[in-house]
Amino acid sequence: MTADARGLVYLVGAGPGDPGLITVRGHQLLRVCDAIATDALANPGIVDAARRANPRVEVHDVGKRGGDRASWSQDDINALLVRLGREGKRVVRLKGGDPFVFGRGSEEALALASAGVAFEVVPGVTAGIAAPAYAGIPVTHRGLATSVTFVTGHEDPTKEEPETSWASLARAGGTIVLYMGVKTLPAIARALLAAGMPVDTPAAAVQWGTHARQRTVVATVATLSDAIVHAGLSAPVITIIGDVVAQRDHIAWFERRPLFGRRVVVTRASAQAAGVRDALLELGAEVLEMPALRIEPLDEARARQVMTRLEQYDWVVFTSQNAVQIAWDVLRATGRDARAFAKPRIACIGRSTNDSLLTHGLSADVVPARFVAEGLLEALAARDDVRGRRVLYLAAEGARDVLPDGLRLLGCDVDVIPLYRSQPEETGREALRQAMTSGRVDGATFASASAVRGFIDAVGIELARSVPAISIGPITSNAIRDAGMTVAAEADEPSVASLVEATRAFLTATEHAATGQH
Ligand code: SAH
Repeated sequence: MTADARGLVYLVGAGPGDPGLITVRGHQLLRVCDAIATDALANPGIVDAARRANPRVEVHDVGKRGGDRASWSQDDINALLVRLGREGKRVVRLKGGDPFVFGRGSEEALALASAGVAFEVVPGVTAGIAAPAYAGIPVTHRGLATSVTFVTGHEDPTKEEPETSWASLARAGGTIVLYMGVKTLPAIARALLAAGMPVDTPAAAVQWGTHARQRTVVATVATLSDAIVHAGLSAPVITIIGDVVAQRDHIAWFERRPLFGRRVVVTRASAQAAGVRDALLELGAEVLEMPALRIEPLDEARARQVMTRLEQYDWVVFTSQNAVQIAWDVLRATGRDARAFAKPRIACIGRSTNDSLLTHGLSADVVPARFVAEGLLEALAARDDVRGRRVLYLAAEGARDVLPDGLRLLGCDVDVIPLYRSQPEETGREALRQAMTSGRVDGATFASASAVRGFIDAVGIELARSVPAISIGPITSNAIRDAGMTVAAEADEPSVASLVEATRAFLTATEHAATGQH
């Protein structure tokens, strides 16, 4: 069989963990490729995002320590890449950090070369530079270190003829960055000290560098190993040995973010969740995500019909960002654009919904002061161009009837079109329960009453009650209380920004639960 000319395997560095640290080229390839083969160290969030943007992509989790198969050997992985390439696919082989830095990417390239499958390499930000950077440690610094050595700790330095000359590294005086070296560190430290490295040379270990759960331990080359055991750090850890480590006292920026060390569950039943998650990550929090609810569009035929005769309505009411998104997709599918909304006036319940409208060149005529259905009803009732008019109400299946009922009392002719339904997804629920029980959770955000129900469904009422709830507004707060949970904080207005602010304020006011190792 000859290789298909179109098959191409990209060996792509995913970066060290923070999903923002993948290259622009890697990001673009993930959005257009046919298949992804991903590593245990590549942030799963990167693959999830690629799946959302590229729903037909075929994903192989070849993380060597687990996944759906017991274990993938390097030979299995090479064979998979060759097969996918020969099938004519564009394949992203996503590897943690940089593919050619202790990543066996070069072995994969050799296997592809010998099989005659075309490949390209997209370098990545390696953990040995990024983890120190996020811990406030520059790997070189004028006057302190003029060189840096990246070295694997995989090899036992006490073996007869080690490939690494620890003695020359000790004498070179530059920074040593050690990958995969938690277990071998005691022997490596002894070898360095025996070769004359000063016993008080600073050393640091960074676990899960660039992830929100990053932990850093600082000691000396002689004491670091004990300090790592004491702090309970285990792989993945980058170890830095050298005078540059002391710069951390001044430079450690990441761990000073306002919510660093805090763990928050972001629940969801709406497009808002991604905004809340991103904002909390930016503040430094570790975010535990609810498995995404699948948003299922409903009855497209009816929605299409409505979208082709918008000019028959005097008002269109959008109840959520999802409603805007789906309505827009349906509208576009009928070949129309924003001009179809030229005649009706537009009302929406919250600022975030209006933000979504704005991205499509539309701006609501009415956004009530109180961002709940009752608030919108009041705002509409106060106008002189609503009574007796035709209203199109675009909502989720099972939405509350307050607004359509109220509008009917005003003599309006209301067409209620349920545009979508949110469905729970079983996958990921167990992972969330595990993450929640593996450590303290400082809060959970809720952007709707259905998110409250979704959360209880996903983790069970007992676990749900153990977490302080932060709510987007009064209706959501009621749902939280009805479930027997406590509302720890409520947003001033139902918007992403306000929910994030309420979360930040609540978490910074409560005792800082982060471990004291930094
Ligand atoms: N190709 C990767 C390295 C793979 S070897 C890269 O360029 O970064 C695996 C080792 O990398 C781990 O044992 C650990 O030492 C290191 N590592 C990878 N990601 C890390 C992270 N986020 N934090 C700390 N160490 C990490």
